[in-house]
Amino acid sequence: MKILLVICDGMGDRPSKHFKGKTALQATKHKNLDELAKNGSAGIMDTIAPGIRPGSDTAHLALLGHDPYKVYTGRGPFEATGIGMDLREGDVAVRCNFGTVKNGTIVDRRAGREAFGLDELGKALNIKIGDTEMLFKHAVGHRGALIIRGTGLSDKIGDTDPHEEGKQIKTSVALEPEAKKTAEALNEYIKKAQEILSNHPMNKEREKRGFPLANAILTRGPGLAPKIEKFEKKYGIKGGCVTATGAIAGVMKYCGLDTKLVEGRGLASDLDMKAGMALDMLKEKDFCLLHIKGCDDYSHDGNAQAKAKMIVKIDAMIGRLVKKAPKDLIIAVTADHSTPLEFKNHTSDPVPLAICGQTMRRDNTKRYDEIECAGGAIGRIKGQDLIKILLDLAGKTQLFGA
Ligand code: ZN
Ligand code: ZN
Repeated sequence: MKILLVICDGMGDRPSKHFKGKTALQATKHKNLDELAKNGSAGIMDTIAPGIRPGSDTAHLALLGHDPYKVYTGRGPFEATGIGMDLREGDVAVRCNFGTVKNGTIVDRRAGREAFGLDELGKALNIKIGDTEMLFKHAVGHRGALIIRGTGLSDKIGDTDPHEEGKQIKTSVALEPEAKKTAEALNEYIKKAQEILSNHPMNKEREKRGFPLANAILTRGPGLAPKIEKFEKKYGIKGGCVTATGAIAGVMKYCGLDTKLVEGRGLASDLDMKAGMALDMLKEKDFCLLHIKGCDDYSHDGNAQAKAKMIVKIDAMIGRLVKKAPKDLIIAVTADHSTPLEFKNHTSDPVPLAICGQTMRRDNTKRYDEIECAGGAIGRIKGQDLIKILLDLAGKTQLFGA
């Protein structure tokens, strides 16, 4: 038996004034999600722990059975792997922006959010500072990632991004004595990068087209490449992932899942295409995580109507997916965290969970939402336990003891 884990990013909610005190899930019709809950069992889940507000990255680490408090080193490393950079143990990865600097002052932290020419400009930023390699790659929009590779590096360094316009680029400070070399290399690099970018023909081209110069790099969120046991080694099976989010792709790749980063998030995205890819992956693999972005973005914006529509869209996709799926597939649908419309950010409220499959007990749950699922037979579990439960239902676990 194989496992499909569907993660609807930020789907969980709190009572909302937009829905007369109900959650978005409670207020919308979603018969296919309900059907999963009816034909299987439901529960609620603290993806990290009760009272802990998860980031999407830390939540996904937990959902793959890792303790995020032990393995998470910051977002930089996952951003870098998410855009296809080869991150190795000992590397320090940093998130970057292209910015516009005039007379030493940052006038635009995002270079007008204009990506024109940034791929090429990024390629010019792969240089060496002493014996330390600086590997840069443009991501999307004004963003990029930098890998600092060498001996004796530390991620305990300060940001060079002042996070405010009208200021100068900050000098990165060593936050521990062992970080002196890394901070110095980064500061030297930031200076060299300004020279390289200012003299690059691509910036002349940007100027011609009326775009702000991309003549500086701003860095934030450094993190050491984490030590994470790969999926196949940890569980003895192969796994895959389909997602449209770079940072999630980074987490999944780093955890050893064969990850397809696809286009499109939210209401405009082609969910059937993503579901089809997930089912295709399951022909060769025993596990696939299908990550669906949309609810989270709309919740951050406080856009209740769009969130409700997204839930209906997910429901329709689930309906078609279940029809196409092999009969012995175990399907679990949940979220990585709640993102309440009223709060516009992630909260610790447990997320609804339904698991359906031939080996799964059937409880009395009739509807898929935060409250109905809370009364289900699974009860309240932690995110780290979910994958173990799914593997056992699929007959892929070892007996403990005799
Ligand atoms: Zn999330
Ligand atoms: Zn979010």
